Amino acid sequence: MCIFCDIVAGRVPAETVFEDDAVVAFLDVRPLFPGHTLVVPRAHHGTLLDLPAELVEPLFGRVRLLARAVEEAMDAEGSFVAVNNKVSQSVPHLHVHVVPRRRKDGLRGFFWPRHHYRDAAHVEETAERIRASLREQSRGDKR
Ligand code: AMP
Repeated sequence: MCIFCDIVAGRVPAETVFEDDAVVAFLDVRPLFPGHTLVVPRAHHGTLLDLPAELVEPLFGRVRLLARAVEEAMDAEGSFVAVNNKVSQSVPHLHVHVVPRRRKDGLRGFFWPRHHYRDAAHVEETAERIRASLREQSRGDKR
């Protein structure tokens, strides 16, 4: 039972703006701004981390298409493209938000408070942890 699977299957109505074999894109019912669109893979994958590698380009290729369309259609200056994974994710079917943006539109980039690094060593240690994780992934441990 997944609301976005129901939308993909046509069991629940949505204001669809694009669909093909890979994705369905529809207007968010509670938009940040008019034109706020959600792009979802047809197949149920919970988060970006669950998305099979071969579906990454099909999804994000469509996201780029939609970002251009939303910007042009809404006469926007730019767009915000985002994915919540688990935290702040209210629908457990991967969805990419495409939100039209204008300067001084009230969204302050990221809404969250910023946290500073303690010092240069903390910056380096943090970067090294991410690099180590990437090295592990490239060895095939996490694919
Ligand atoms: P998130 O909080 O990142 O998981 O985003 C989920 C989004 O799905 C929210 O912005 C909701 O407004 C939107 N949403 C939930 N149910 C529906 C629906 N039936 N049709 C369109 N958008 C929906």
